[in-house]
Amino acid sequence: MSLAAFLRRFRRVLAAAIALAAAVTATAGCGAAGGEPYTEDLFAMDTFMRLSAYGRFAEAAVRAASDEIKRLDAAWSVTDGDSEIYALNSFGRAEVSPETLEIINFAVSVSGETAGALDITVYPAVSAWGFTTGEYRVPDDGELSAIAPLVDCGAVKLGETSVELAPGAAVDLGALAKGYASQRAAEIFKERGVTSGVVSLGGNVQTLGRKPDGSLWSVAIQDPEDGERYAGALGTSDAAVVTSGVYQRYFEAGGRRYHHIIDPATCRPAESGLLSVTVVADNGARADALSTALFVMGRQAAETYWRESGRDFDMILITEDGEVYITDGIAGSYTHINTERELIALTAPQRPAQPGVQTEG
Ligand code: AMP
Ligand code: MG
Repeated sequence: MSLAAFLRRFRRVLAAAIALAAAVTATAGCGAAGGEPYTEDLFAMDTFMRLSAYGRFAEAAVRAASDEIKRLDAAWSVTDGDSEIYALNSFGRAEVSPETLEIINFAVSVSGETAGALDITVYPAVSAWGFTTGEYRVPDDGELSAIAPLVDCGAVKLGETSVELAPGAAVDLGALAKGYASQRAAEIFKERGVTSGVVSLGGNVQTLGRKPDGSLWSVAIQDPEDGERYAGALGTSDAAVVTSGVYQRYFEAGGRRYHHIIDPATCRPAESGLLSVTVVADNGARADALSTALFVMGRQAAETYWRESGRDFDMILITEDGEVYITDGIAGSYTHINTERELIALTAPQRPAQPGVQTEG
């Protein structure tokens, strides 16, 4: 990595650390009943992470969850020569663990449900824009046209114990790996007897139980246009709260900003009219996969998807037009902080509107 790329990454990492510190201030306030949490910070999956748990099993549980995240990072990194994904991308075929097979299978199924908005074969495009190494660049049209045929989930063939890719294709689990990892961390907390804890992996927050004083965790939702402010805060327990946003990873060139969520249809940063998407769901991997997919899809398609998928997740969409759309399952536990943005609740026809919130749908 060049010095310039290293400095860019260092600045980004520093910004992420500051953002994480702010988020954790909001999430890990402790009640007298539970004492202090046991907390560990780590850097994995190119992200600053914080794991906190309460109670007498906290330390062992946090250590085990941290080891699990490092294990997943080592298996799925696109840059680590020893990872399963590196081998798959290098040789076009690799024997993989049942878990890797399962997450690739899951990613391919979400790809099918979202008309390809989530597509792990987008990796050649992610790489062409420099998001893999931090050596950012704007690829020209010819380069993107050459990459386009490689971006197709049909290129992924799953065997019993192996995965095979079409020639030239490569995959990146970055859109859902952190959500899967946060899910595993919460499961490990539970297995080890922890009843109250929170893990914050960049934009992926997963809560276990409630705070020791019985109140909900409060997860801050970053304002995507102002790093100093929160758009709002969400009260939550036993859920994954995952955000994909333009502010999380980007570079500027020629007076334009290019972010890291790529539209597989164009191989360019998605221009869907959204600045961020937060998904709240029981399962971290699903929340993470959906946050990326819904970002690419844009507000209208995201809303249709939410209605048609049985509304088994909730979401907050922040648009370029200054609106915040929130689904009715979480509107009651959301505190709107940046009131310069208009708050609009999305409700299904049979459900009553949230009081005090303008409704649509
Ligand atoms: P997230 O932060 O969860 O939205 O995931 C974004 C990361 O996933 C990027 O940094 C890329 O590595 C990868 N990625 C970007 N766009 C897509 C996409 N449309 N489908 C799958 N992975 C993507
Ligand atoms: Mg995601």
